[in-house]
Amino acid sequence: MIDNPIPWPGGARCAVAITFDMDADSFLHLHRPQDSYRRISTISTLQYGPKVGVPRILQSYRELGLKQTFFVPAWCIEQYPQAVEAMVADGHEIGHHGYIHEHMNEISTEEEAFWLRKSSDIIERYTGRRPRGFRAPLYNFSPTTTDLLIDEGFLYDASLMGSDIPYLLKGERGTLVELPTHWAMDDWPPYVHMSDIDYSMPIRSPQEAVSVYKAEFDAIWEHGGLLVAVWHPFVSGRLARWQEAVRFIEYMQNRGGVWFATMEEIALHVREVHKRGDVPLREDRMPPYPGPVTFS
Ligand SMILES: [Zn+2]
Repeated sequence: MIDNPIPWPGGARCAVAITFDMDADSFLHLHRPQDSYRRISTISTLQYGPKVGVPRILQSYRELGLKQTFFVPAWCIEQYPQAVEAMVADGHEIGHHGYIHEHMNEISTEEEAFWLRKSSDIIERYTGRRPRGFRAPLYNFSPTTTDLLIDEGFLYDASLMGSDIPYLLKGERGTLVELPTHWAMDDWPPYVHMSDIDYSMPIRSPQEAVSVYKAEFDAIWEHGGLLVAVWHPFVSGRLARWQEAVRFIEYMQNRGGVWFATMEEIALHVREVHKRGDVPLREDRMPPYPGPVTFS
């Protein structure tokens, strides 16, 4: 049911990456620049991420023996350096997630290039290495993102949703590995209720949320795909949700034949498979359209 599935290391049936986007309160200031500082209850909800969620998640990862990937807006690294230092100390990967969660498809190419470079510099300053992977804030990948990432030496992107397995994005100046996800694996729809940013969903129980993730995992396991969870410390790091998430991770570990890896490890593996020519990888030309789509 998956065309040209990718052979995973050690004969694993599928690959899984639990990625966290540590947005903290970045997007609140972007969304309400005039008065975000007065929205103290929402700030506290979002600061739960770096202050409570991250230490809790890191402790579970140590117990579960997992090294994973955290995408962090560079502004959040400056605001909450201890949370990021703890991730790095435990050997997790830090990916690029914009400066203050800016939407790449709503700013000019010059601005996009500026924030991309500035944030990579900050990540390097705090972690000792430049990021190899990128996830556009709110998945807002722009027509110019592919080539800007290639220019900056990125290995992979994690913003798109076009397959069940990795594929390639072909820009003017080279290719990037795409490690796709889907909204079904994002924790905002089942959990986030935040009127200050005009996003309110009916809150689901952790069991309901995980049942959606589990259905995705079971199919990926059966057919040999890649599962990328997109969770947030202020959302899934809350007590009842994280407790259920840990049970879900244990379920996946106990199923057997699952390759848990960082996004960088998965992207490097995909590049290697591609180089050896083991399986043809789909190549999507970026951007899909050169300009406005007209019809009559
Ligand atoms: Zn985000």
